[in-house]
Amino acid sequence: MRIANANPFADLEPFVQENFPLARHTWYRIGGPARWYVQPRSLEELQQAVQRCNEAEIPIYVLGLGANLLVKDEGVDGAVFRLDDEHWRRVRYDGNLVEAHAGVDLQKLILHTVRQGLMGIECLAGIPGTVGGGIRMNAGGKFGDIGAVVNKVVVMDANGHVFEREKDDLIFDYRSSNIAATFILSATLELEAEDPERIMRKTKEIWMYKRNTQPLNTKSCGCIFKNPRGLSAGALIDQAGLKSMRIGGAEVSEKHANFIVAHPGCKADDVLRLINIIREKVYDKNQVHLESEVQIWS
Ligand SMILES: Cc1cc2nc3c(=O)[nH]c(=O)nc-3n(C[C@H](O)[C@H](O)[C@H](O)COP(=O)(O)OP(=O)(O)OC[C@H]3O[C@@H](n4cnc5c(N)ncnc54)[C@H](O)[C@@H]3O)c2cc1C
Repeated sequence: MRIANANPFADLEPFVQENFPLARHTWYRIGGPARWYVQPRSLEELQQAVQRCNEAEIPIYVLGLGANLLVKDEGVDGAVFRLDDEHWRRVRYDGNLVEAHAGVDLQKLILHTVRQGLMGIECLAGIPGTVGGGIRMNAGGKFGDIGAVVNKVVVMDANGHVFEREKDDLIFDYRSSNIAATFILSATLELEAEDPERIMRKTKEIWMYKRNTQPLNTKSCGCIFKNPRGLSAGALIDQAGLKSMRIGGAEVSEKHANFIVAHPGCKADDVLRLINIIREKVYDKNQVHLESEVQIWS
């Protein structure tokens, strides 16, 4: 039963805050607060807070860089965990194996691995996120995805049990995987030795391609919809005549129709209304149902 008035996180205040604004921790910079915001500094603190959530039946959410996220205006009635303490940003090199913890910034990791002369994640250039969020979403695109280099992940379920999953047991698919555990704690990536200058050249090429094809300097969450099998969601939206369509502060990007960008004053509700309109119009025109890639929290 949910405890109504008592603070379920009593004595965990050093790393749990109440009614915490989430907008600034999302790429969109929109959305309401989290009822509880948890920033554990160790595995033990993470397990303690998860146990309290279980006892008080508080739903658990895990936040990375919020780059694939739309938080509704009313906020999140649950506990949002963010693994951004130094403890979760550690990286360890062992030959061509790189163990990166969940909170490591993917763009920083690319630069580090390039400097070490290790190739394999340059395909993620220009994709904002953390290792945890990247693994959860199997981040990537036409140049490859992170799943291709994952050797092992360490995860924790909603009961606080930590376990490892090895490469042979992992299946990475388009923006998804068979990892069901609530928390991804770390990933070991198997990279290849290569000349740093060559990797850097390739990284820059990929980054330039993304900069030329996606509205990287605007507030967005990347692609709103998954590409339906064999089709491009962006092309379907474009064919439906929806480029530049605007609802409130939300607009279908002129540069890439599968991006909805947020202008100043934009509400999450504007984005949600635009998502619904796009779905309806694309269905009317092509009888294709567009599935969300963006994770929507309420
Ligand atoms: C400008 C822009 C361009 C983008 N381009 C691409 C692209 O080309 N390809 C692509 O794949 N994506 C792209 N994205 C989307 C986004 O960058 C990726 O999905 C990225 O992996 C999100 O990582 P994050 O840490 O921000 O995760 P968040 O957005 O914070 O969370 C995403 C999901 O991952 C879960 N999650 C986060 N951390 C953990 C964890 N430690 N354990 C368990 N679950 C966790 C969250 O609960 C949520 O379900 C783009 C986004 C932007 C803003």
